[in-house]
Amino acid sequence: MRHAKILVVGLGAMGSAALYHLARRGVPAGGIEQFQIGHALGSSHGFSRIFRNIYPHPLYVELAEAAIPLWQELDSLAAEKLMQFTGLLYFARPGNRDIERSIEAMEALRRPIERPTPREVADRYPALRLPQDTVTCFTDQAGLLNVGRCILEHLKQAQRRGATIHEQVRVHRVDISKDTPLLETSAGRFRCDRLIISPGPWAPELLEDLALPLRVTRQQEFYFRPKHRAPYKPGRLPVFGDMDTKYYGFPDYGPGVKTADDSLGIETSPDQVDRQLEPGKRDDLQEWLETIMPGAGFSYVKGATCMYTNTPDRDFVIGAHPSNPNVLVAAGFSGHGFKFSTLVGKILADLAADGTTDFPVDRFRPDRFEKAA
Ligand SMILES: Cc1cc2nc3c(=O)[nH]c(=O)nc-3n(C[C@H](O)[C@H](O)[C@H](O)COP(=O)(O)OP(=O)(O)OC[C@H]3O[C@@H](n4cnc5c(N)ncnc54)[C@H](O)[C@@H]3O)c2cc1C
Repeated sequence: MRHAKILVVGLGAMGSAALYHLARRGVPAGGIEQFQIGHALGSSHGFSRIFRNIYPHPLYVELAEAAIPLWQELDSLAAEKLMQFTGLLYFARPGNRDIERSIEAMEALRRPIERPTPREVADRYPALRLPQDTVTCFTDQAGLLNVGRCILEHLKQAQRRGATIHEQVRVHRVDISKDTPLLETSAGRFRCDRLIISPGPWAPELLEDLALPLRVTRQQEFYFRPKHRAPYKPGRLPVFGDMDTKYYGFPDYGPGVKTADDSLGIETSPDQVDRQLEPGKRDDLQEWLETIMPGAGFSYVKGATCMYTNTPDRDFVIGAHPSNPNVLVAAGFSGHGFKFSTLVGKILADLAADGTTDFPVDRFRPDRFEKAA
């Protein structure tokens, strides 16, 4: 039986960040991942995730802002750029409550937000054409994160600072009945003083005892390449989102302009998910892109399947396990967690090493669903 001071199970977005922040504080820690590091089977593969400070709830605005210096720190360590501030443009038909709520929240917090007219949008971003009565809002505190690279960098920097990584080791069972949790894995048993569990879409299985109301959904993203790529590159185009259709997109980064639908897809489970790409969704997204960027001459490049792990209110689950304070849980990131992942890693490291954190995470308590029941 191996013993570790702190173990992190699941080295995707949240687990890799937790391992980094533990190592950064000089706390000896080990990480366990069931697949090869950098795999494409969970929620965090590919080229891009949106970073944005716009949220309808002030807590998320504050947490997004707190994540910025941590991303910048990681970026400064990496050989390749991890984060690019391109700005983000949201738009909707008049009367859309979601865009109004986001604008109201940002104004209440006195955060700078622009509301360019469609003509001003076209002047600034000649590729984009929106109907004249479109409602918009724009923040420059937004852009894209290279998701795959961020995870690899967190892990590389964690290892440099002494963290141990066990890859292709599956945790079959977690026994938290004693103070020191016991893990049964495909590579034998591990005992640890503190345990962080960040299993992404495998949360309903690995955290079965918590009976969290999580729904795993299949989501698909598609890349389209414009005929002339320069006007669609980061800097010439922001990240953009349509609050009516819930379709959103990224400038041409990686294989092309990426687009996806933020509406929840079909319910699934991570070991059974059908990764066949849906041609209907691909065509709808291409049509949408062609409507807002006429003349781009988009050709389809490729698509990918990913999963959201959703709570009923799309708020996260972060905190101590109700029946063992030595076990910390990070789950239910509901399709919008990546931008916060380096901060979530710091929060988990604080909780594991000190038992407390300065960040306001009470809203995310794992036992909040029990209270509601
Ligand atoms: C298509 C798509 C688009 C998205 N866009 C955005 C966006 O623009 N902005 C944003 O902020 N967020 C976005 N998200 C959400 C974001 O990517 C996720 O919230 C985040 O990546 C989840 O990270 P995680 O660590 O919880 O899960 P994962 O990164 O999947 O990590 C979980 C890890 O745990 C491992 N694991 C699980 N069970 C075991 C076990 N038993 N033993 C060992 N290892 C185990 C898994 O193999 C996996 O590596 C998007 C998600 C998708 C799917």
